[in-house]
Amino acid sequence: PELLKVNEIDKFYDNFHAVKNVSFTLEQGEIGCLLGPSGCGKTTLLRSIAGFEDIAAGSISIAERQVAGNKTVPPEKRSIGMVFQDYALFPHLTVKENIAFGIDSLLKKEQGNRIEELLQTVELLGEGDKYPHELSGGQQQRVALARALAPEPKLLLMDEPFSNLDVALRETLSTEIRKILKDRSITALMVTHNQNEAFAMADKVGILSSGTMQQWDTPHAVYHRP
Ligand code: ADP
Ligand code: ADP
Repeated sequence: PELLKVNEIDKFYDNFHAVKNVSFTLEQGEIGCLLGPSGCGKTTLLRSIAGFEDIAAGSISIAERQVAGNKTVPPEKRSIGMVFQDYALFPHLTVKENIAFGIDSLLKKEQGNRIEELLQTVELLGEGDKYPHELSGGQQQRVALARALAPEPKLLLMDEPFSNLDVALRETLSTEIRKILKDRSITALMVTHNQNEAFAMADKVGILSSGTMQQWDTPHAVYHRP
């Protein structure tokens, strides 16, 4: 079934047309990557899906529920998790406390189990009592992933999650994260300007140019298009 449906959406910043009649869908468990040069509208599109930007036309549905269009659902009710490029971990909280932020509605005991499970998922068992500055960049980004996954969102949105990391680490981490998402059948949409990363991670690649979606297809089809 379709997990994300973006239907003919437009977004303006005053008179500037940042997203132009964009449509695409992601099936449950698929990973989509949005590619394109700086300023083409990737982040704006992601923020519109997250609910941080109002769209001027079209509609967005997550798990067959309309979240933008005739009806607007606020960001915290859209069942999304987000990972940004700068980790955005709380420096004065431990790894466990950072992750707990995503699930503070659970009872203490359930919380503990859930945190252990998430630490295991991102292969950081035993690092839970460390502070962010004691971890490497790759480890910090995996904590950010665990925190985003903690409330069990239906859709994970990632904005340039690897851009602060060096080239070797980017490759390892993108492979690791793809495996985590695939093992748990998590649907994700990731913004990147790195073509190799998009082609290695994605089930669907979207090519944006000046706010227009030029192509939305499998990496193979996009790559071999004449
Ligand atoms: P990308 O993520 O592909 O680099 P963005 O979505 O950040 O692109 O930006 C798309 C376009 O919208 C750019 O031309 C940018 O300058 C413009 N833009 C982004 N945010 C705002 C804003 N808050 N106000 C006005 N223009 C903006
Ligand atoms: P990863 O590949 O997952 O990012 P690394 O192999 O770089 O992990 O790091 C492994 C170990 O080195 C960890 O125990 C981590 O705490 C420590 N470490 C790595 N980078 C730093 C750093 N910049 N500051 C403190 N500790 C670090």
